[in-house]
Amino acid sequence: MHLKFGLTLMAGCFTALLIGAAPGPLVTAEASKVQCQNDLEQFEQQFQTLENISGPKTVNSVLEPLNDLEIKMSSSIRTAGLYAQVHPDAAIRDLAKNHRQAISKLGNEIYMSGPIYAALKQVPEPPNDPDTQRLLHELLRDYRRSGVDLPHAEREKIKTLNDELTMLGQTFIENISTDVRYLALNSTNDLAGLPADYIAAHPAEENGKIRISTNYPDYIPFIRYAQSDEHRRQLYVLYQNRGYPANKAVLESILAKRFELANLLGYPNYAAYVTETRMIETPEKIQTFIDQVAAMARQRAEREYAELLEKLQQIDPDATKVDPWKASFISEALRREKYEVDAKEVRSYFQFGPVRDGIFKLTSELFGVTYRPWDTPVWHEDVEAYEMVENGEVIGRFYFDLHPRDNKFKHAAHFSLKEGITGRQIPVSALVCNLPGKNDEGALMEHSQVETFLHEFGHLLHHLFAGQQRWSYFSGIATQRDFVEAPSQMLEEWIWSKDALDLISVNAAGEPIPNELLKKMTAAREFGEGMRVCGQMGLAALSLNYYDRDPTDIDLDEIMLAMRKKYSLYDHVPGTHFYANFAHLYGYSSGYYTYMWSLVISKDLLSRFETEGMLNKNTALEYRAAVLAPGGSKDAADLIEDFLDRPYSFEPFGKWLNGK
Ligand SMILES: [Zn+2]
Repeated sequence: MHLKFGLTLMAGCFTALLIGAAPGPLVTAEASKVQCQNDLEQFEQQFQTLENISGPKTVNSVLEPLNDLEIKMSSSIRTAGLYAQVHPDAAIRDLAKNHRQAISKLGNEIYMSGPIYAALKQVPEPPNDPDTQRLLHELLRDYRRSGVDLPHAEREKIKTLNDELTMLGQTFIENISTDVRYLALNSTNDLAGLPADYIAAHPAEENGKIRISTNYPDYIPFIRYAQSDEHRRQLYVLYQNRGYPANKAVLESILAKRFELANLLGYPNYAAYVTETRMIETPEKIQTFIDQVAAMARQRAEREYAELLEKLQQIDPDATKVDPWKASFISEALRREKYEVDAKEVRSYFQFGPVRDGIFKLTSELFGVTYRPWDTPVWHEDVEAYEMVENGEVIGRFYFDLHPRDNKFKHAAHFSLKEGITGRQIPVSALVCNLPGKNDEGALMEHSQVETFLHEFGHLLHHLFAGQQRWSYFSGIATQRDFVEAPSQMLEEWIWSKDALDLISVNAAGEPIPNELLKKMTAAREFGEGMRVCGQMGLAALSLNYYDRDPTDIDLDEIMLAMRKKYSLYDHVPGTHFYANFAHLYGYSSGYYTYMWSLVISKDLLSRFETEGMLNKNTALEYRAAVLAPGGSKDAADLIEDFLDRPYSFEPFGKWLNGK
């Protein structure tokens, strides 16, 4: 489970989504500094008070003040988290980063506090109050998982291990990002097949060589378009060896220290520790899930592989297999031939303003809410602010910071800024994206950008709809980590639905996207899905198998080879060491399965809409009440069962994968 203070203890894998961020008025660096100091002093004082509670330990004397502190600290750290990423003033960004660290450190101390843990243990469970019972249970669990009840020496050891792991993780990631390798080409002829702008951007250097790096903007077009098979092979090998050999020893240390940590906390291995609070519950169930999904995808993947091989044989009649450096190139050729979609035509239907208004219209129709401008100070002139209204009452507020500018966060993310607490505060969110269209009214969006917008808006809806809670701990997207993405992944489906696209898409002539075009887009989307699923299951198995055992004498290469053989359709390329640059092995540890898991769950949730209508308001309202509104106050499996009237199932995913 998340800890609301954004502490990075042990699990070490909090996304921007959970650490969050938050807003407020435009202020000077000086005023912000005073505010941060005041906040921190107040939090420290409340923490001291909590450590010294006298008299009977009750919900009122222990849980209420802890909740109050959490509400305030979480708003403060989330605001700092947002400003650190988007504020135009560099001084405020720095201040925000430091403030975030300071609060995170205090959060760690609170969750390692023996006196608070002792007080919590004495609070009697209130009868007929399942929310508070659950809160007590989960808080005690989180305290125990931090090692609070262990003897002093072991607690010190845990602290040391966590500090060492933070350093090792940073080194692991840095070794990947700083290890840029280059392929040297002799002439422009070696760039045959690549787009003209790519060739123009890669002139020969003084020594006459053209250098192609392993960075994405160089690597991805090259591996997809370069005609020279041998050069693609060479670049692939360079790419797959980033971080090697340095990261071999680093990863071995990470595995060893996480294993030791898990043992100290009473778990047989690190995977068991991490999965305890997840929807999937145990490492064994992760393995079962991986095998089940891989089996569902296998036939389709083999069909797709045969198709690729056939295409390859048109170029190389002697080919008997598709090597991994050929896969992208051949897929692209096949895609062009079979599923040609004119991206320009698609873009003509997606202009920023109408898309934004269309998303408002769609979600209004589904969930019975309306939106109106919110008159409030913002941190940059590009930022828009809105209120969400239901039955004349404001139930949520949010900021849109959606267009690129210098010194701003480069990805797309939802930031929860304030938890909704019944009778106390209305939830607040911010969406940060980099979409075209602010200063160029005619600018058009890629279909994938509309999908990203809707995905992030899905997190925003979840946060706002789950904003009627007594306990901050359950408010907003406080759900199990491997369920967090499912509601957003499900909402993405609307961008593939004609009914929804009639509201969102419009071209210069005022027409929505035609059915024929949408059909072609859908076919192109689904091409290669079987192989993609198998590949993802191979990665998930790798992440699990490094963490679900005693890593003493572990052979990283041997496990990698075994997983590839078992799940992937492509052969391993000798001399490559993918684990040295698989960054998620640190951030996700054993949890790489979560990507596919939430996709499987989202297809299950979607099944009711597919039967009852994508714009069926009753279904949407039931979904909102059963799945979104409870936030973290129930297990995700129960939320799904409440909505579907049956336990969650992998079947809809299997049907989707194998063409219904
Ligand atoms: Zn997401």
